[in-house]
Amino acid sequence: MTMKTEILTLLRESGDYISGQELCNRFQVSRTAVWKVMKQLQGEGYIIEAIRNKGYILKENPDVLSLSELKSRIHNCWAGREIYFHEETGSTNIDAKRLGEEGAPHGTVVVADQQNAGRGRRGRAWESPAGKDIYFTILLRPGFAPDKASGLTLVMALSVVQAIEKKCGLQAGIKWPNDVVVNGRKVCGILTEMTTETDYIEHVVTGVGINVNLEVMPEEIKNTATSLLLEGGRKIARAELLQEVLERFEVNYGAYAEALNMEPLLEEYDAHLVNRDRQVRILDPKGEWEGIAKGINRLGELIVDKGGGQLVEVYAGEVSVRGLYGYV
Ligand code: ATP
Repeated sequence: MTMKTEILTLLRESGDYISGQELCNRFQVSRTAVWKVMKQLQGEGYIIEAIRNKGYILKENPDVLSLSELKSRIHNCWAGREIYFHEETGSTNIDAKRLGEEGAPHGTVVVADQQNAGRGRRGRAWESPAGKDIYFTILLRPGFAPDKASGLTLVMALSVVQAIEKKCGLQAGIKWPNDVVVNGRKVCGILTEMTTETDYIEHVVTGVGINVNLEVMPEEIKNTATSLLLEGGRKIARAELLQEVLERFEVNYGAYAEALNMEPLLEEYDAHLVNRDRQVRILDPKGEWEGIAKGINRLGELIVDKGGGQLVEVYAGEVSVRGLYGYV
C-alpha cells in the first residue's frame, strides 16, 4: 500500500481526528509530506478537515472510485487482493483475460469507471457510461472441471444481491441466470467467460456491471433497466458497494468450490429467484417454449414445469428467460 492509501484507510477506520504528528511518526516523513497527501485526497473529492491541535478528520465519504479508495477498503484473502483500476477501458473482461494469460493470480480484480466496449452475452452491448456505475471483472483459477464454471455466474449474482440488500436497503432479486433486478428491472448483468485446456479450466473471468448512480437510463434500455439511485432515492458510494460484493463473493465462492455444487447456497438463491413459481418463456436458440419456473437444482440449472408435472432442467448456456407479461 502507498502512504496515501494507508492514510486513507487510517482516517476512514478511525472515524476520528488523527494528529499530523502521529502520521509523521508512523510514516517517518515531514509534516509537509503529510499535508501534501491530504491535499491530494481533497483534490480527489474527499472532505478532509484539518483542525489545529486535533489533526485531520475524514468528514464525508464521497463517491470516489480510484485505486487508493479500492485498496484502502478491500482486505480479502484473495478476492481483490490484486486490483487494477482504469478510468476508461474497452471491457474489463478482456483486460482480466489478458491478465489471466500473463499469469495474474486467482482473485485479481479489474475495475473501470467507464467501458467503451462493455458486452453482455451473445456479443450484445452493455451500456457503460462514466462516473456513475460499477464495471468490474474477477479472474479465477478454480481447480474444478469446466462444466462447473457456469455456476460462477449464479454465485456472483447471489453476492451482488446480498451486497445491494445490505448497502442500499433495497430488496433485490435474481433473474436466472445472470441478471439482478430491483422492482422488476435490471440493475446488474453478469458475464462469465472461460479459457479451457481440454479438460481443465485455465482461467475464467466473471464480469459484472451494476447500474448504481445513473439518474437517467439510456433510451434503448429504459423499459427494462434501472439503477440503485432511481430505486432507492439516494446516491451510493460505489467502492463501498464493490467492497461488499467482493467480501460476499469470497465466502460464497468458497462454499461453491468446496461442495462443487450450489447446495450450500441453494436455499438463499431460490429465495431471491424472481422467476420462481411464475410462468416463463424460455428463449432457447433451438426453439422457444413456456412453463412455470420452480427453482434451481444443485447444478444451477433452472427447473421448469412444462405442464402436467413434466419437469425440464434448463442449462444456463445460451438461454434467456422472459416473464410472459414483461421482462421478469
Ligand atoms: P436478457 O436480459 O435478454 O435476458 P441477458 O441477461 O443475457 O439477456 P446480457 O446479454 O447479459 O443480457 O446483457 C445485454 C443486454 O442487457 C442488452 O441487450 C441490453 O438490453 C441490456 N443492457 C445493456 N446495458 C445495460 C445496462 N447498463 N443496464 C441494464 N441492462 C442493460
